[in-house]
Amino acid sequence: MNDPHMPEIQGRLVYTCIGCGKRYDIYDFVYTCPECRSLLKIENTEFDRLKRVPAQHWREIFDSRRNTNLPELSGVFRFHELILPIVPGGDVIYLGEGQTPMVRANAEMSAWVGVPFLVKNDGLNPSASFKDRGMASAISFLNHVIRVRNLDSVLGICASTGDTSAAAALYLSYLPKDKVQAVVLLPAGKVTPQQLSQPLGSGAVVIEMPGVFDDCMRVVEELAQNYHVVLLNSKNPVRILGQKSYAYEIAQQLDWDTEDLTVVVPIGNAGNITAVMEGFADLCELGIIPALPTILGVQSHHADPIARWRASGTYAPLKVSPSVAQAAMIGDPVSFPKVRKLVKEHFADRFHVVSVTETEIMEGMLRANRNGHVVCTQGGESVAGLKKALCDGILPASGRFILDSTSHQLKFSVFQQMYFEDTFAPEYGIRIDDSLKNRPVSLQADTLEIARHLGLKKKG
Ligand SMILES: *Cc1c(COP(=O)(O)O)cnc(C)c1O
Ligand SMILES: [Zn+2]
Repeated sequence: MNDPHMPEIQGRLVYTCIGCGKRYDIYDFVYTCPECRSLLKIENTEFDRLKRVPAQHWREIFDSRRNTNLPELSGVFRFHELILPIVPGGDVIYLGEGQTPMVRANAEMSAWVGVPFLVKNDGLNPSASFKDRGMASAISFLNHVIRVRNLDSVLGICASTGDTSAAAALYLSYLPKDKVQAVVLLPAGKVTPQQLSQPLGSGAVVIEMPGVFDDCMRVVEELAQNYHVVLLNSKNPVRILGQKSYAYEIAQQLDWDTEDLTVVVPIGNAGNITAVMEGFADLCELGIIPALPTILGVQSHHADPIARWRASGTYAPLKVSPSVAQAAMIGDPVSFPKVRKLVKEHFADRFHVVSVTETEIMEGMLRANRNGHVVCTQGGESVAGLKKALCDGILPASGRFILDSTSHQLKFSVFQQMYFEDTFAPEYGIRIDDSLKNRPVSLQADTLEIARHLGLKKKG
């Protein structure tokens, strides 16, 4: 523990209500303000002390930790001071999350989208989505609270469009079984078989209920309000802390140069885009980066309340229709008030949202994957969103572009299959481009037959 890279325990964290500003003890399990029902954010009341450290020194600290093999500093806790500075290294749970690669699009793909760009592939996390980032902070914090408060029958619970439950079940399964139990609520038939298999495999109690995500979320919120459970949705602001690391990593991978940068993020419950904006705002406030990037949010036109708000100025929850970007199929995003506040305070003219069609999402995903990527349907949404924003003149075709692919292609392979087999229900409204289809070919185990099928010419 005397490693010079190891951060000291410092700071004072509180929950601060984003509505009335009241503060609450971080060690209590609260998720909305008991006074005014608004969302809570986590504030480091000693954040200004971090400003006394010169920006160059911060960059050196974070870069030097890149060369350590300490598990506590290998994942999102590389940015310990900006995430959970009150949690000692010994309480950190690291399962391999964070530090995901940025992959340069090839010439063919860049030409199709309209600009050169990079995909930061968050599908390469342990449960194959970015949700692991926030779960690493939430479960490390829970582990810390269990120890210091000597708790012994903790029930961690979440509602999910699939990936939150996979991440929650995975991280909770690492904690002692005699103290902690995992429960996940899923909308029946609205998560993919791969996503359903994940919490089952991690040993969680999996409850399937009729309805969509918004219905599961309502039940979980009522449970959290009336019973002793630990809510692990992104409404729990400890989740947002870890998810900020996506922004920190982008900055670090660009050698802290964020001039003329645009980051493209699919929006569901809006926890991720909140975290990405907060993360860049932190770095800017500490002088670690020279400028805030532009943020481009993307939604399917079947679930686009935030795009409508950005276009019309008024926000209204809406009823969703089926979307291949199923993990983002949310009609009343819980974190919308945080997005509105961040845009007002920091991102004003650097924040856009576009709405794309289901056909465009599928085409974005399929073309990306035919060019060396492994993006999911939500990653396809990012691709389609960037192409659309360029076409519509919302973004200039200059500068640098980073697209968030939020999970792994394999989690959403059923949608690829429906495309290739032409079996989409009409509600999706997907027009199939036959040239993007691909099917296995059945042939005998016969060299001649296969060579003939491939049109091969005999040697010599
Ligand atoms: C959860 C999720 C999203 C949406 O993120 P929010 O934080 O809910 O906006 C997008 N893509 C994938 C793969 C997800 O799991
Ligand atoms: Zn309040």
